[in-house]
Amino acid sequence: MVVLEIRAGTLLGDTLAKLEGGVGAIMVASGMAAVDLVLSRLTPGDLVVAPHDCYGGTYRLLAARRDRGQFKLSYVDQGDEDALSAAFDRRPALVLIETPSNPLMRVVDIRAIADRAKAVGAKTAVDNTFLSPALQRPVALGADFVIHSTTKYLNGHSDVVGGAVIAADRADLDVLSDWANLTGVTGAPFDAYLTLRGLRTLFPRIERQQVTAFAVSKVLQADPRVRVVHYPGLNSHPGHATAKAQQAGFGAMLSFELVGGVAAVRRFLEALHIITLADSLGGVETLIAHPATMTHAGMGIEARHAAGIDDGLLRLSVGLEAEADLIADLKVGLAAADE
Ligand SMILES: *Cc1c(COP(=O)(O)O)cnc(C)c1O
Repeated sequence: MVVLEIRAGTLLGDTLAKLEGGVGAIMVASGMAAVDLVLSRLTPGDLVVAPHDCYGGTYRLLAARRDRGQFKLSYVDQGDEDALSAAFDRRPALVLIETPSNPLMRVVDIRAIADRAKAVGAKTAVDNTFLSPALQRPVALGADFVIHSTTKYLNGHSDVVGGAVIAADRADLDVLSDWANLTGVTGAPFDAYLTLRGLRTLFPRIERQQVTAFAVSKVLQADPRVRVVHYPGLNSHPGHATAKAQQAGFGAMLSFELVGGVAAVRRFLEALHIITLADSLGGVETLIAHPATMTHAGMGIEARHAAGIDDGLLRLSVGLEAEADLIADLKVGLAAADE
């Protein structure tokens, strides 16, 4: 029994390491624990460079650890060349990347940033939760660590909370593995067992979901009640070319801004029947989130607006429902938003 339980975690870690092209993986209890595990390497004086529009939980975790003096921190718009150069001049120890970013789906060039990090002796960690190794493999692009919330696409069924860190280098893996044991953040065997079941269908799930996401993005883009659609698969998306070059697909996450702001958002959400309002993402069911009041509420209004997160913005995680049903639901929502 004990042997079997231990093996589920090992099997999952080995599988993720293979999928991501790393030397090994450490399974932890949540995506946040995975982010924190990468931070465990740092000492006071070290500088972390993080995206200014990173995942809300990561944003708060970084700020909380900085406030306790555990490292220095600089939030940077990683698509802004001047800001990025200024950050590298300060010789960071760790560069965090999220691409596409949450919730604005901004795309940055992983290889370009990882190369510059290497040149100043910094490690690069990429949070690959939004795409999974089915669509993006950061180690091949020069990343030292890949972070996952396995809660999302890897498990894919919204019934497990878990995380993983995949390392490109054996010595780095050993350091994090020791630290995970010390702090007891390692994941539970039954969660690993469930996640392995989910992982078996990762590729066909995400392939189907991204086809639907593209269709949905086209419908939203053509609608006058929508100000802008952020989906890297659209030609009009500023990161389209980079996404095409470094990703194997555009994924199933998108966001869009309603013309009518918060009032329109409320009417829109109340009218939906199929799409569920929830913080999470990457499951078989389509989930919608309102970043300003949900995932990114903790950022505070100023930081949110600086990051370009408008109050009318909605984030959609496209699931496996029939495309026609989802589009019909969105159209009902849009009609209600316009009233
Ligand atoms: C959800 C998420 C996390 C945190 O994961 P949990 O498993 O919920 O702790 C971290 N990064 C990204 C990009 C996420 O979407």
